[in-house]
Amino acid sequence: MSVSGLFTQSDLETISRAAKLAENLTCDFFGLPSNEWKLNPYRMLTLKNVSRDFHIDQVFAHVVRIQTVKKSSKVSEASGLYGVVLQDPYILRELFRTESLELWPLALYVMTHELTHIVRFKKFEVDFFGSGVDRKNEEEAVDGFTREILHGTVSLKHINRYAKFGI
Ligand SMILES: [Zn+2]
Repeated sequence: MSVSGLFTQSDLETISRAAKLAENLTCDFFGLPSNEWKLNPYRMLTLKNVSRDFHIDQVFAHVVRIQTVKKSSKVSEASGLYGVVLQDPYILRELFRTESLELWPLALYVMTHELTHIVRFKKFEVDFFGSGVDRKNEEEAVDGFTREILHGTVSLKHINRYAKFGI
């Protein structure tokens, strides 16, 4: 961990492990095949990987849609590829505010929340481009699912704290 505002290599390894667990937990919860994320991969990105247009104030992370245009196909793929943009400075700032400096539960929470969004966009026909009210409802729904998925894995005290920050 560093105070420079970007993840270190060791942070990224912790986040990757958290992402793997989040993948398994979301598969179990939504009844998806265990190879779901292999078949329908997503990209995990940090601020270094994206242009400033994708930096959003004050949130831990957000989901982006990556358009892949296949030369051979004239029809754009409805499913598309999703990416999770992790915003290093806000995640690290939260760690420094707490006494434990534990990246693991926060990374697991963030990844579970964002993967739940992706599952809902892909499998439950939730509109990625939904309006303000739809987005608010979706955030509430995803927060509820995330809490259920992580029940017994991440403490409620941590979850309440993270959820207050907004994601
Ligand atoms: Zn969200």
